[in-house]
Amino acid sequence: MNNSMDRYAVFGNPIAHSKSPILHKAFAEETHQRLVYTSQCVDVSLFIDAANTFFANEGLGLNITVPFKTDAFNFANKLTSRAKRAGAVNTLFLDDNKNIIGDNTDGVGLVNDITENLLWSLKDKDILIVGAGGAVRGILEPFIGQHPKSITLVNRTVKKAVSLSQEFSDIFPIEACSFSGLGNKSFDIIINGTSASLTGDLPPLPSSVIHSDSNCYDMMYSKELTPFLKWAQQNGCKNTSDGLGMLVCQGAESFFIWRKIKPSTTELIKKLRKIL
Ligand code: NDP
Repeated sequence: MNNSMDRYAVFGNPIAHSKSPILHKAFAEETHQRLVYTSQCVDVSLFIDAANTFFANEGLGLNITVPFKTDAFNFANKLTSRAKRAGAVNTLFLDDNKNIIGDNTDGVGLVNDITENLLWSLKDKDILIVGAGGAVRGILEPFIGQHPKSITLVNRTVKKAVSLSQEFSDIFPIEACSFSGLGNKSFDIIINGTSASLTGDLPPLPSSVIHSDSNCYDMMYSKELTPFLKWAQQNGCKNTSDGLGMLVCQGAESFFIWRKIKPSTTELIKKLRKIL
């Protein structure tokens, strides 16, 4: 390895599946940045040691994936506002005083994919978000920043949706409910932020949530249509997307934080789609 190159990495466990090295190599080539980006499988009890060693050896930035996003949150010397709200960190970088800053680009990645790649506006829209886990927590502040008309949070364990909505009540009135509590209401944008698709399951949504112009997004991505997107299409939804673009856009935002230059994402999403 050329020691004069700026160094970045992704930490996770497992890590072999991570697409981050592919993303950042493509971003660096496109923007003509000289850098090295590696992936490291970190022992679950050794995250702090590994992160300290990386920065002590002049590493410049880390992406953090499962299961270390909360460890990275606790490890950072300072947090951005969106990382504080998300309660999780997926990007670490050094500020001018060499403080290690924790940020979270998952939410802005999703918003950028939706608004810049798919060209769906969130402004003045009725939005339904399904799920109340870590990923949903991370997207709420960036969604609120798009000035939607309403946000409804529905979750299998309703008390988790209620408590999450309360955490954001100082900035936006999020309505929390159970699946049966949705009644006949329909929504402009429906986001599946559950992990149900991972096991081939479908959240028990009534088909009445979809109207003729609804757009449906599954944060999970896969080669085949996810069960949620299949269901959406069967119920008349014309515009659907999985979360591959979110993945690429969160990486682009980390790259921007580190290199102050924004790579483009659309062609890379198409390329990755072919090799899924
Ligand atoms: P969590 O484990 O934190 O939360 C899981 C959520 O899914 C909970 O709300 C849970 O409900 C719900 N859930 C799980 N199974 C079912 C089911 N069968 N029916 C209804 N609800 C269900 O996961 P994360 O928030 O970390 O991840 C959620 C999804 O987001 C994953 O699919 C992940 O792949 C995706 N993701 C995609 C990213 C991307 O870049 N594209 C980035 C980050 C995440 P309950 O509370 O009742 O258990």
